[in-house]
Amino acid sequence: MEFIYQARPSRILFGQGKLSAAAEEVAALGSRRALVLCTPQQTPLAQQVAELLGPSAAGTFDGAVMHVPAELVAQGTSVARDLGADCLVAVGGGSTIGLAKALALASGLPILAIPTTYAGSEMTPIYGITENRLKRTGTDLRVLPKTVIYDPALYLSLPVQAAVTSGINAMAHAAEALYARDANPVSSLMAEDAIRALAAGLTSIVDDPAGIKARGTALYGAWLSGTVLGAVGMALHHKLCHTLGGTLNLPHAETHTVVLPHALAYNRGQAPQAMQRIARALGCDDAPTGCYALASRLSAPLSLRELGMTEPDIDRVADIAAANPYWNPRPIERAELQALLHDAYEGRPPRFND
Ligand code: NAD
Repeated sequence: MEFIYQARPSRILFGQGKLSAAAEEVAALGSRRALVLCTPQQTPLAQQVAELLGPSAAGTFDGAVMHVPAELVAQGTSVARDLGADCLVAVGGGSTIGLAKALALASGLPILAIPTTYAGSEMTPIYGITENRLKRTGTDLRVLPKTVIYDPALYLSLPVQAAVTSGINAMAHAAEALYARDANPVSSLMAEDAIRALAAGLTSIVDDPAGIKARGTALYGAWLSGTVLGAVGMALHHKLCHTLGGTLNLPHAETHTVVLPHALAYNRGQAPQAMQRIARALGCDDAPTGCYALASRLSAPLSLRELGMTEPDIDRVADIAAANPYWNPRPIERAELQALLHDAYEGRPPRFND
């Protein structure tokens, strides 16, 4: 056996009611003037957090939107400077945490993240900033949140469909972590348990949307998924979703949900051990088929068509994805990618050619 394992330095508070520790955690970072970040839709929650912070809240900036536009980063940077902020508190999903990361990259301010989706950005040192329609991404430890508060109570407001797609987005991180080139025994343990917890949690959320226990089970899985996303490299699935999101502006979590069974089918023959672990976690015999069955049981979107893709887009996306070589357990072949995208476009069950 041979591997490299690199732990990431972050402090995690997990549990119902843990939001109440926000002020103490800001103080523990040595900060006294926190700027609270959120999307316009989550202003009430951000205000609640600012009230909890009391005198250590410097103000609230509610401009977070998808894809972290560079103009927003400039605006946020001047707000933080004018308020004399010495810490960023990001309350929300990947878009809000993404804004905090972009501000931290320039300023070095520490981040306390309070996630409200299952996307997992809070556990990674990966950032992205969009300028002139191009998303520049990079990795820098300065953007990794120092502290993360996971409070399942904050997830009760997430509509069931959003919880399902966000949860399958998280599952995709764990699935690809299992066949990552740089996978290690710890990341694989985490990834398998992530899939198990997410599958159980999401199923219970659909059955009982008001149940906090299920929200917490899925959140535990999402934490593990975010951790492995930050620890090992991703492959075909993430590349395809990035291309679909960037080129066609398809919705993030929904796109991950539709593509995952097909990406797994593409890689099945070249990653048998990973597939076994995914299937074991899903409680089924075959990982891609089980993943498709789970999505359909959860009434998740199954086709890229219903997300707004058109048939001529298939060729364009296949061209872009095949043009940029990247590591994947199975080499990228354009004709096979096109077939995969066609199945995902139509919402067919995954097909195998391995
Ligand atoms: P998001 O942050 O855009 O949130 C989607 C919507 O849901 C927003 O309108 C938000 O206000 C609302 N919302 C969030 N939590 C809610 C809650 N609990 N209740 C009610 N409404 C709520 O979506 P996302 O899927 O979390 O994040 C997607 C973005 O994150 C993408 O741009 C993606 O690239 C990025 N991301 C980055 C990383 C990374 O490591 N850098 C990892 C994962 C995702």
